[in-house]
Amino acid sequence: MTYLIKGGTVIGPTGASPADVLVDGEKIVALFAPGAAPHQDETIDATGKYVIPGAVDAHTHMELPFGGTHASDTFDTGTRAAAFGGVTTIVDFAVQRYGEVVQDGLAAWHGKAEGNCHIDYGFHMILGGVTDDSLKAMDQLVTDEGISSFKLFMAYPGVFYSDDGQILRAMQKARDNGAMIMMHAENGPAIDVLVKQALERGETDPYYHGVTRPQELEAEATSRAIWLASVAADCPLYIVHLSASKALEQVAAARDQGRNVFAETCPQYLYLTLEDQLGAPGFEGAKWVCSTPLRSKHENHRADLWRGLRTNDLAVVSTDHCPFCMKDQKELGLGDFSKIPNGIGGVEHRVDLLYQGVVDGKLSLARWVETIATTPARMFGMYPKKGIIAPGSDADIVLYDPNGQTRISAATHHMNMDHSAWEGWEIAGKIDTVISRGTVVVRGDEYKGRKGHGQYVRRGLSDYLV
Ligand SMILES: [Zn+2]
Ligand SMILES: [Zn+2]
Repeated sequence: MTYLIKGGTVIGPTGASPADVLVDGEKIVALFAPGAAPHQDETIDATGKYVIPGAVDAHTHMELPFGGTHASDTFDTGTRAAAFGGVTTIVDFAVQRYGEVVQDGLAAWHGKAEGNCHIDYGFHMILGGVTDDSLKAMDQLVTDEGISSFKLFMAYPGVFYSDDGQILRAMQKARDNGAMIMMHAENGPAIDVLVKQALERGETDPYYHGVTRPQELEAEATSRAIWLASVAADCPLYIVHLSASKALEQVAAARDQGRNVFAETCPQYLYLTLEDQLGAPGFEGAKWVCSTPLRSKHENHRADLWRGLRTNDLAVVSTDHCPFCMKDQKELGLGDFSKIPNGIGGVEHRVDLLYQGVVDGKLSLARWVETIATTPARMFGMYPKKGIIAPGSDADIVLYDPNGQTRISAATHHMNMDHSAWEGWEIAGKIDTVISRGTVVVRGDEYKGRKGHGQYVRRGLSDYLV
């Protein structure tokens, strides 16, 4: 089917211009100056709307096993909620557990996702154990499976943790095959000491989750990862969920030297705080237990992160979507914050929350689109298939109403969660229409998509490497 998206303002990484977009089947085939397109029988009226590339969320954890339970969104519920939020591609983290063969972990993730996704999806691979076999598997995943990024953890000893020697070996391998190393940069062994000491003092509330993960231990791990990548001949390094000013300083310094170092942050770190959310009365704060943790409002983190987005020291905003319900899940940590499953669900709200940054004068329109769509597509080898409105690209398109309003609530969201980290937030802008590979999947508040529409995206190497 051919149709014309008419009358809107197309926004891309270089700015905004009025244009009509011609879609044929699953692809964008042409952009026209307003009124210059040949007549089409089918049109979608975009008058007064921004026409932006479908958002790419490069950090989600559907059905992740964690702390004796599973993230509460399946690929079905999570990708449907993502579509409502203007997201047309996710990159989820497939997991190799300790002792498991990498390819078996990947096959298990394909098994969960295949036939269940409402939008397109790719995978990063979490390496739970760096061994000769898993290093070999990295080559195979890059060349045969379309997986060009591998996540390692400097935190969670006994679960996902890799020591410095293992990290260096994986980085050397990535330097050779061009893959990106994604790092959870927190000093896990030191955090475990602080957690134990806090619990011994009877400090068991969710607030202490934040206190026992101080920014120094994020900055130290970030710095160590950057130096290890340097030793590995400047292996490409991407710091995930960066939350703290001191960690950002490390990334900025490396980038000033022209290093292959990149970083993302998440909406929760741009808006929420240790005191106001994690420190909420009673057990309420459990809703906001995630790692890295929310930071203190008495320090400059949020302003620094917004600035980092403008200067490109932070290249991407992802959600780290990892939802757990309060009932039966977060409640596992009643009386012991260290047993609260770590994660916030937000895959549905990133596009709107970042648009609020545009309204507040913190980001330009072009930078909004770049950080939520274009850059993640380029960073993770999906460009120009994804992340841009251009001839030949997939017709992943969002019509965005800049004059609309969005009210966030667990009563109306589509994620499988019994609460919202953003309950009651009223923000500017509203998702109007979402198109995934040419098919309208969301129109207004109505769902038009279907489970199984989403396809696996085989990714190439990052665009940003030199
Ligand atoms: Zn992480
Ligand atoms: Zn994560």
